[in-house]
Amino acid sequence: MTGEIFLDLGKQISKAAEEVGKKTNEVIAKQKIRNQIIKIEKEVIKHYEEMGRSIEAKYEKKETVETECLVLCEAISEKKKLIEMYKEQLLAAEHSKACKNCGIIIDKRDVFCRGCGSNANEKNAQDAQGEKT
Ligand SMILES: [Zn+2]
Repeated sequence: MTGEIFLDLGKQISKAAEEVGKKTNEVIAKQKIRNQIIKIEKEVIKHYEEMGRSIEAKYEKKETVETECLVLCEAISEKKKLIEMYKEQLLAAEHSKACKNCGIIIDKRDVFCRGCGSNANEKNAQDAQGEKT
């Protein structure tokens, strides 16, 4: 993988030299160079990400990481927990519905609302799964 990066880098350098050398159609050449800069900047950001991931992997393995990295690793860890929490909420939401009468969130399978006691399936019998007449 690292080898590929350097091979690619070599191509990019020669391409940049080639582009700079051409004096014809300067506007197009400039735009091409700008595009190259944007492309390479994106790749640099990707490398930052990879670098970060390798530090995070160290942190996960309880290996020593730099103090400034430690703070970021902890923040990442907390945010990952948050994401998991939200995913669970989303999953729970997929298995729930709002009562047509009072609006509280109840389980999709509930026949009666836990909040107001009204029939939760009254108006939306089609929503109930696996029920046949
Ligand atoms: Zn209700």
